[in-house]
Amino acid sequence: MFYPFYSFFMDCGKIREIIPQYVNHSSSEENTQLIEEHLCICEGCREYLGDFLEKKDIYRPEEALKRNKKETEDKRVDLFNIVVLILGGMIVFFSLLLILRV
Ligand SMILES: [Zn+2]
Repeated sequence: MFYPFYSFFMDCGKIREIIPQYVNHSSSEENTQLIEEHLCICEGCREYLGDFLEKKDIYRPEEALKRNKKETEDKRVDLFNIVVLILGGMIVFFSLLLILRV
């Protein structure tokens, strides 16, 4: 299940609070999904996660290798979310055009 628009309303503070759990694969399925969706649309939190992982990799290189593998698999999901967001945006945009013309 995907709720790509819901993550627009998530606040960055909340996301960053649960990012450590996400990195350790100990966050709930729901939180993991929220984080991943939020990361698709929020560059600030992507950077935050990047910094977090960089620090973590120094101590646990084997985890980093595992994660890189997982990231490649997750790219398909990211792409799906982006496509849904673009389509949703277009629908809203064209609806507005129609409304304004009337
Ligand atoms: Zn954010």
